[in-house]
Amino acid sequence: MEASLTARDRVGIQDFVLLDPHTSESAFLDNLRKRFHENLIYTYIGTLLVSVNPYKELDIYSKKQMDTYMGVNFFELPPHIYALADNVFRTMQSEFNNHFILISGESGAGKTEASKKILQFYAVSCPSTKLLNNVRDRLLLSNPVLEAFGNAKTLKNDNSSRFGKYMDIQFDHQGGAVGGHILSYLLEKSRVVHQNHGERNFHIFYQLVEGGEEDLLRWLGLERNCKNYRYLVQGDCAKVSSINDKSDWKTVRKALSVIEFSESDTEHLFGIIASVLHLGNIKFDVDARGYATLNNNQEICWGFLIRLKPKQRSPFSVDHAVYARDALAKAIYGRTFNWLVNKINESLANKDSSRKTVIGLLDIYGFEVFSVNSFEQFCINYCNEKLQQLFIELTLKSEQEEYEMEGIEWEPVPYFNNKIICDLVEEKFRGIISLLDEECLRPGEATDITFLEKMEEKIGGHPHFVTHKLGDQKTRKTLDRGDFRLLHYAGEVTYCSDLLDYYSFPVIFKVMRQSKNAIIKHCFPSTEPDSKRRPETVVTQFKSSLVGLTEILMSKEPWYVRCIKPNEAKQPGHFNDVLVRHQVKYLGLMEHLRVRRAGFAYRRKYEIFLQRYKPLCPDTWPNWKGTAAEGVQLLIKHLGYKPDEYKMGRTKIFIRHPRTLFATEDAFQV
Ligand code: ATP
Ligand code: MG
Repeated sequence: MEASLTARDRVGIQDFVLLDPHTSESAFLDNLRKRFHENLIYTYIGTLLVSVNPYKELDIYSKKQMDTYMGVNFFELPPHIYALADNVFRTMQSEFNNHFILISGESGAGKTEASKKILQFYAVSCPSTKLLNNVRDRLLLSNPVLEAFGNAKTLKNDNSSRFGKYMDIQFDHQGGAVGGHILSYLLEKSRVVHQNHGERNFHIFYQLVEGGEEDLLRWLGLERNCKNYRYLVQGDCAKVSSINDKSDWKTVRKALSVIEFSESDTEHLFGIIASVLHLGNIKFDVDARGYATLNNNQEICWGFLIRLKPKQRSPFSVDHAVYARDALAKAIYGRTFNWLVNKINESLANKDSSRKTVIGLLDIYGFEVFSVNSFEQFCINYCNEKLQQLFIELTLKSEQEEYEMEGIEWEPVPYFNNKIICDLVEEKFRGIISLLDEECLRPGEATDITFLEKMEEKIGGHPHFVTHKLGDQKTRKTLDRGDFRLLHYAGEVTYCSDLLDYYSFPVIFKVMRQSKNAIIKHCFPSTEPDSKRRPETVVTQFKSSLVGLTEILMSKEPWYVRCIKPNEAKQPGHFNDVLVRHQVKYLGLMEHLRVRRAGFAYRRKYEIFLQRYKPLCPDTWPNWKGTAAEGVQLLIKHLGYKPDEYKMGRTKIFIRHPRTLFATEDAFQV
């Protein structure tokens, strides 16, 4: 803790829990700003870590820093992501249970950087042997590969993750990292065929064109000029000053070999990437009967690479053919990405079946609002609603319910429960997803407008749903007839109702099955459900994957890193109050602070607490005959706990501040 008042004035307070009990949002912001200007980007709310993106390299991630934080009590050193990582690791070790770290924040706030720092910390701090180092390298190198294929430059972030990522790191009894597993969520496939001005396609395309070896490019039929490829030029910014595609290419190449991609895997993989670029350049002519046709050399370029011989003439009109071409490019890329994740998982898999504990890292897209918001934003924001709901369930709600159950006196803290919005989206039969599914069952009849009318009919009265027709005069001015607006917990977002955009092209997908490219063959299996059966829509698949994720997380102990973006200009030293205030609000930081302050940082079942600490007291050691609660009473009396430091519940002891527990741990070490 800071030594003097002046120092405290200058650098702020390192744990918001210690701020004045009636902290206003402004005081909260003042503290964050003060620390930011002193390059103190981390601040705690109890054990939650708030991180503000410095937009510059800070000298706080060295090996020396890692050593400093290793095995040291959480509150003894200035807040740091390493302190959190270390604390999670040691809790896992001592209690032998599973944990996850949820890293959230908007695009560019620093989530991916935070998750990499945590992984790097474990890579250095965990025990090492030749075998373990092998796993460690693969865990670390899976990052550049996934980033190459799943990240892109957007207006908000030069290295924006365009997929959600959950990664389990598995540890053995000794704390060695023995394996990992990655789940990916909803890759933004539309980027393959379209980029807004100032944005790029996925990094890998530029890396290949800029960095690819001469021989490779010749074989792939590619020229070293991004401008020649339609899928790379729409954003008009192939070159980005903060990105070195050439050296990134080398990193990816090396990473692929460490993750044990064979020569043939990489050959097939780059064949696919190149074929997507060639596919994008295909132009269609019209034949006498109005059908789209291709000319010969266009066909060779992409068909050859994935070992396929496409037909000359399509059964489509030119418009349809263009649409189908793009749909195919998206499908190929999306499925290849999933293949890549699976392949990485094979390489990370732990073959040993002994019991392991897990730390999960969740780096998932933050709440997004653009001028035009479509299907992908709808899914991303729905995902954020679900995670907020999880946060409420695991922290705000469960905490308060637990006090009640344990008979602990407690002043309830009010919070907004966003369940109502989750229900609006996902409820069976009348949620937006259900209605969308129903409309998808009526191809040819359903349109954006019929979908909108259906929503108006079924959920028109919902307080978080507005359309032009339902809105008041003011709303109508800002809302087109084809759009609908959701009042998310984090703010209002207007979506265009083209969520219905699901053409499927079974004919083309069938053709893909004949490919001799091993990856394509794998990605378009012949056992695919045929088009006559009702296919699961993308949004329903996404909903199921989020349900799965929630289940994974619910079974683990939660930790949070909340990332904040200080300004829109990606500049160091600029702290935009309005922007930060908005994030503080929707990240639920004030609510979290109130609950934390009023509550107890730690609680343990009497039995567990006694079991662990009984050697510290002659009355309870070695065998305690009475009830666990009585034993704990004696134990803490012996340790000198003051009455305001703890409370005794029905089955658990509650400790107000982690410091008390750490002091007890220290007594243990002496
Ligand atoms: P998205 O949702 O778009 O993926 P994100 O939250 O993952 O965004 P990052 O990619 O982690 O954002 O961070 C954006 C950029 O901010 C980084 O490329 C880096 O330049 C800078 N940055 C983030 N965190 C730090 C940090 N701790 N130190 C220095 N720079 C940082
Ligand atoms: Mg990211």
